[in-house]
Amino acid sequence: MTVLHFLETISPFAHKKGWIHWESGLSRTLTCPACHTTQSMKTKRSVASPYSTHRRYRLYDCTFCGTAHFPDVSAPVYEHRPPSEDEEKYTAPKKFYVEQGAGFESMIAPFFWARSPSIKTLLEVGCGYGFSLDFAGRALGWKALGIDPSHIARHGAQELGLPIMDGYLGADTELENMPFDLVFSSEVIEHIADPDPFVSVLARAAGTKGTLLLTTPDIAGLRQERAVEEIIPLLSPGSHLVLYSEDGLRACLQRAGFTNIEVTSTGETIYAFAANDALYVDFTAPIDRQILSRYMQDRLSAKEMPAHLRTGFAGRLLRLQTDNGDYQAALKTLEILQQHWKTHFGLDLHAPDTIENVAHTNQDFDEYAAAHPFNLVIVLYCAGILALNETQDQDLALAFFKACKRCYAVMEPVLTAINASDLDSRNLAHEAALLCAGVLTQSNPAKAISAFESLDPFLIQAYADRYEKTRLEVFAAAANSGDYASAERLRPAVEAVLQKGPCQDDFEHAAAMGLAMMALNYRFDRPDGLFWLQKALNNAPDGPQWESMRKVWQTQAAAYGTELLVHGGQPAFTRKRQEIRAALQSASLTPKDFAIAEALGLAYMDDQPHIALAWLERALPLASEDHQAVTTARIADTHTHIFLQAVNAGNMDEAAKTCSAATGMANVNDDPGLHFALGLDALNRRCDLAEAAKRFALVADQHDDPALSVQGAFHLAMVQARNGNIPKAQQTADTLYSAANPNAALVIQLVGKRQAELDAAIAATA
Ligand SMILES: [Zn+2]
Repeated sequence: MTVLHFLETISPFAHKKGWIHWESGLSRTLTCPACHTTQSMKTKRSVASPYSTHRRYRLYDCTFCGTAHFPDVSAPVYEHRPPSEDEEKYTAPKKFYVEQGAGFESMIAPFFWARSPSIKTLLEVGCGYGFSLDFAGRALGWKALGIDPSHIARHGAQELGLPIMDGYLGADTELENMPFDLVFSSEVIEHIADPDPFVSVLARAAGTKGTLLLTTPDIAGLRQERAVEEIIPLLSPGSHLVLYSEDGLRACLQRAGFTNIEVTSTGETIYAFAANDALYVDFTAPIDRQILSRYMQDRLSAKEMPAHLRTGFAGRLLRLQTDNGDYQAALKTLEILQQHWKTHFGLDLHAPDTIENVAHTNQDFDEYAAAHPFNLVIVLYCAGILALNETQDQDLALAFFKACKRCYAVMEPVLTAINASDLDSRNLAHEAALLCAGVLTQSNPAKAISAFESLDPFLIQAYADRYEKTRLEVFAAAANSGDYASAERLRPAVEAVLQKGPCQDDFEHAAAMGLAMMALNYRFDRPDGLFWLQKALNNAPDGPQWESMRKVWQTQAAAYGTELLVHGGQPAFTRKRQEIRAALQSASLTPKDFAIAEALGLAYMDDQPHIALAWLERALPLASEDHQAVTTARIADTHTHIFLQAVNAGNMDEAAKTCSAATGMANVNDDPGLHFALGLDALNRRCDLAEAAKRFALVADQHDDPALSVQGAFHLAMVQARNGNIPKAQQTADTLYSAANPNAALVIQLVGKRQAELDAAIAATA
């Protein structure tokens, strides 16, 4: 009702810009029509009047219940105009409503929430054309009666064959079957300045046993960040008088005396159920799609039917079947439309390329309506989905999606000119544009990229996720098929997305692979190639394709390592050790990889000797005879290194593992540091005092490192004391602390304070 009335009353008057002003303005003392609180209300927005370019309507907000109202707009007259006035003026808006504009599913959804076996009779107040009335009667088997004073209701009564009374429901109107099990009034209460008389009339029709069901636009939908075309239907200036909040609508129902009230909102529309008897409402109950589908098919089976009605039912059924994946049935419905539209519009759905392929010059609404079905965009979208998923004809799917885009481009300015819009068509046209790019990736990656680049900027906001996925998809298709020049155009954006973290899905893995291929084969940047290969292969799905990519990664890493060694030596190699190591971690190495494995061993020697050891051990079997001795020595060296670290850190387990290698090394190279570590290990872990004494004596006797010599002598004396060898301990201590000791200064500095400790140890043993 809202859309239709709006289309009738609005003449092409205003551009979107300046249509709504969001600044706060005047205050006025007003009484809220919903909760009856009187207060000083502020206006936060004003809307252009559809009747005069100079007038603006101010919307005032109730701070108590959140309802807003237009105090300066008076209710329009809904009674039917004399047909002589010019009935034709309403043909195009009615056609739009019947074919596409009526939100069929949102109208009938509450019937399923309230559907209990006790409902047998329905009164719909303000039923408009009567779609919901028709569904209740035909599909649900209710005895359904409508009442509405508008001319559109007379059309509905005639075209759908419905019992609709012409007029308003009054306080003393007597109707057959009154009271009704369900009294329904959808999108009416917002057109009335004072809701109380209206609600009490509805309450009377429901009686003490019946249920009242109201729907109305939700003020919560009026948000500044939304597009103007999304809030036009909500505001409908000059037609809507009160925009309710859930609390406001509840207050109205409470004043009418209802004891049981259930209210919910989709954010766009408030639904309220009210009864005096027990109320059974399940807001989560879905529409029964079988019932809906049977209803549409039943309607379509009629031989005689106005053309716009057949278009509307067939289009809605096609959408339903397509969404449900019932493709065989959907193809039959498409065939009904094909025959119907060929006759009425000369449109050939078998040849989508021929549809809307001539540039149009500013058609007005009536001209457009005469030449087009209003659900053309929706039908072409569904046909594309069927071609893609059922017929599996990608060329045909592409032709449908392209036609869908073209048709929306023609329809949009026609609707915009009368300040209307069709969000459903808009969304599917954008979806089709994304699918175009997606479908093209299979056959022509370059064209897919062009299609992606020509997408409406609107998509970037409204479909951010899908948009990004499509970008990755078309990029990967081009890059991985070798069309690097096309892919290059999207590369910076794709890199920015993938740099954020590990790949999350197949799209991202494929795009990372594309970036790697471009780096290696097009930009000749091997380090970058390795970076993207690593990203692509990390957590990559299983499959032979990824296995072969892993080989590429390993080969490239080995080549890169060799380059670095040749040009920059070990230091250059060490700087890039992580990239190369990641690639070769699980590679099966061959003798030609010996240099890389060895270089990795050396690169980690100082700071991560365990990693160094693993690589040297992988290198050893690859080594030529000349290299074997050196590599073996490096392995022993690394063990020693690990042993030294372990002893210093007090890591007993690690020391145990590497002790024998370190002992072997100490016997070969006579390193005092290693002897000292072996002494500490023998003392603390192995409890081998003889071995400890031997190692500390070697350290004490050397002259290369005086500080270590002092430490060796001190530890030797301690071990001797603990062994009970008092004279020896005393002798070692005397030598250490003698004034003649050439290292006397170092002794004081390093162990001087521990002399008392040593004395005590000797005394205790004695
Ligand atoms: Zn209020």
